[in-house]
Amino acid sequence: MVIRVEDIPEHGKQESFLEDEGPLNERLGGETANSGLHFAGPVQVRVNLSRSGRIILAKSRVEARVKCICARCLDPFALTLSSEIQVSIKPKPDPRLAPPEEIELSREDLESDFYEGEEVDLSPLVQDQVLLTLPAKVICREDCRGLCQRCGKNLNRETCQCPGAEIDPRLASLKNFRVH
Ligand SMILES: [Zn+2]
Ligand SMILES: [Zn+2]
Repeated sequence: MVIRVEDIPEHGKQESFLEDEGPLNERLGGETANSGLHFAGPVQVRVNLSRSGRIILAKSRVEARVKCICARCLDPFALTLSSEIQVSIKPKPDPRLAPPEEIELSREDLESDFYEGEEVDLSPLVQDQVLLTLPAKVICREDCRGLCQRCGKNLNRETCQCPGAEIDPRLASLKNFRVH
């Protein structure tokens, strides 16, 4: 999504668009192959753009549908991720005019980014924002019982007769705890 700087009114305007999931899945690469994590469709983006001179303020909300594999029971499931951030986007400083050491990267809490020329490409920003919302490890539900360590049955769906299988793996550490 490319926007001309002069098309952004000072008082602001709202833009909605879909960001293709292809480049996002490409950027995920093989790193998360184990959790099977990938984007199931385009990312919905709503961005509020306003401008103060050449400095653009973007407040963007993204919503992405993600497919992944539960780390405990290995079942595939879907997840909706969303996040909202504010970024100020400034013209890239000309190194001939301002020595690099004098450039303040972020003097406020806002994240900062730069653009060159008369246009701003919002896509890389949106992609970064989406990728930052990805959890490191996903489970299908808080009380997922996982797989039996002995026979491999999915304990969410069935029970097994393995010795010790009835002990919730999360409680296993309490097994040796005795009250005197
Ligand atoms: Zn699970
Ligand atoms: Zn079992």
